[in-house]
Amino acid sequence: MSRRRKGLVAAGVLALGGLAIGSAVQAVTPGFSDDRSAKLASAINPEKPRNVILIIGDGTDDSMITAARNYELGAAGRFALDELPFTGEMTTYGLKTGPDPKDYPIAYVSDSAPTASGWSTGKKTVDSRLSQGPSAADTIPGTDYETVLEIYKKQGKRTGNVSTAEITDATPAAAASHINLRACQGPTDMASCTAAKKSNGGKGSIAEQLVDNKIDVILGGGLNRFNQATDAGPTVLDYAKSEKLKYQTVQTKSGLAGVTSLANGPILGLFTTGNMTPMFTPLTAAAAPAIAGGPTTRCDTADRGDQPTLSDMTTKAIDLLDNPNGFFLQVESAMVDKQEHASDICGAIGDLVEMDKALKVAQNYQAKHPDTLIIVTGDHAHSTQIVGGSTDDGKQLAQVQTADGDPMTVAYSTNAVGSDHTGTQIRVAASGPQAANVTGTIDQTDLFGTLLGRTPSKLPTGPTPPAPPAAQPKPVVALVADKTISAKNLQTSGLRISTNVAGATSVKVTLTKGGKTLASKTLSQYGETVRLKARQKVSGAVKVVVVARGPGGTKTKVVTATVTR
Ligand SMILES: [Mg+2]
Ligand SMILES: [Zn+2]
Repeated sequence: MSRRRKGLVAAGVLALGGLAIGSAVQAVTPGFSDDRSAKLASAINPEKPRNVILIIGDGTDDSMITAARNYELGAAGRFALDELPFTGEMTTYGLKTGPDPKDYPIAYVSDSAPTASGWSTGKKTVDSRLSQGPSAADTIPGTDYETVLEIYKKQGKRTGNVSTAEITDATPAAAASHINLRACQGPTDMASCTAAKKSNGGKGSIAEQLVDNKIDVILGGGLNRFNQATDAGPTVLDYAKSEKLKYQTVQTKSGLAGVTSLANGPILGLFTTGNMTPMFTPLTAAAAPAIAGGPTTRCDTADRGDQPTLSDMTTKAIDLLDNPNGFFLQVESAMVDKQEHASDICGAIGDLVEMDKALKVAQNYQAKHPDTLIIVTGDHAHSTQIVGGSTDDGKQLAQVQTADGDPMTVAYSTNAVGSDHTGTQIRVAASGPQAANVTGTIDQTDLFGTLLGRTPSKLPTGPTPPAPPAAQPKPVVALVADKTISAKNLQTSGLRISTNVAGATSVKVTLTKGGKTLASKTLSQYGETVRLKARQKVSGAVKVVVVARGPGGTKTKVVTATVTR
């Protein structure tokens, strides 16, 4: 970007005024005007990791990351994911079933089963298959391949598997089960996996294999699969709780908060019957030339009842898994993919933003435990495209207002109704020991070796580069609120306010009129979307004030809104 173009962008940011995110944009823009050589050199750590945290966004490719970033932080914002020291590209192709075991055809577009099997086992397989090799047909099992989770379990590390999908869905299933078809999730779903049935001497359904693998922490959705009867009679849930496996089970956020140790057995938390609820309510793209949403559409926070968030589950999993021998934890933000299938831009954005919050949880742990490797990636690309905004730009269209205050149009063009995976390479990023191994263009199966620790890594000898300065930056606050609201709506539904905060330990939002407080609320340290209601009737200009306090200082952001009579 030329200097002149940069100046124009800065002026444009300032001109937004009412949205007051200009300084947030400047503060989070890395710019890379400095030479990064020393910083990168000092971030290379050749040690073997003690703990490994793998964070997956299902269907999360660069298009989806960009769309979520534009919406949540503005075009010049950066997620924690964007600021990891090492970033590379990863190919995700798979195989097709076929008669010639030496020459299975390539599948250029894969589903979540072979892709998750790729990093879990280091080997390629066919669509719908979990940590098992290819074969001549879907119903013919291949050879079981040992997974990273199973290898670490044998080495005495604790293990965890967290997802916002059914925990028996393909991504979490590949970590610790082996079966010819991903659909065989519970013991009564085994019609196409008969050889795997326990009554036929097999390893059982995915649900049974996950608990038989004695994963220390299993958290996600999918209770219905565990309520199915096993071939031996009791449900999978009762089998998990039996004297043989000793699982502690919880089904609510408060129940999860009450578990503080693995001393009484591993934990199985199943918080919904099926998939968990996405963070935002859907905004489903409309068939062109119609368009869903519009230039001032912001996403609405969903009522998730008593379900924990992905960051809640990640926090608890890390607390429980932390031990001197280390742990392996896989965390999946699953609904990014599923909402993209539904052409739901808000649902996908909300769960990608939540994935970044889960990353921040992992980074907080890594800051105190530098022998922790964090890898963040997707499993395959998807259909969400950011397009120019005219109604012939795609088959299905939706529009939202970004944190810049500008409209962003997305198209879904793989299908006329719904949407599907695509076959492009995707981002992989990492920090911590051996993180440099994700750079360049790697394949999904290369992650297998990195997750297990490629030791010893070799570094050239030479002068030790200077450590980067450790000064704590001030909190960064992005703030958007409805620009107008009626006096009645301000009292009944409240003014919608979206904040995104980095580097804070406490965040408070206040609605004021003429210096008088109308309403206030304490937010999460990362900010959130809330509605503030005024107790009394007011009209004219009101102010929304967000105060974020952190180790680097205090940041205050103010925007105004107009209350109409
Ligand atoms: Mg998945
Ligand atoms: Zn999918």
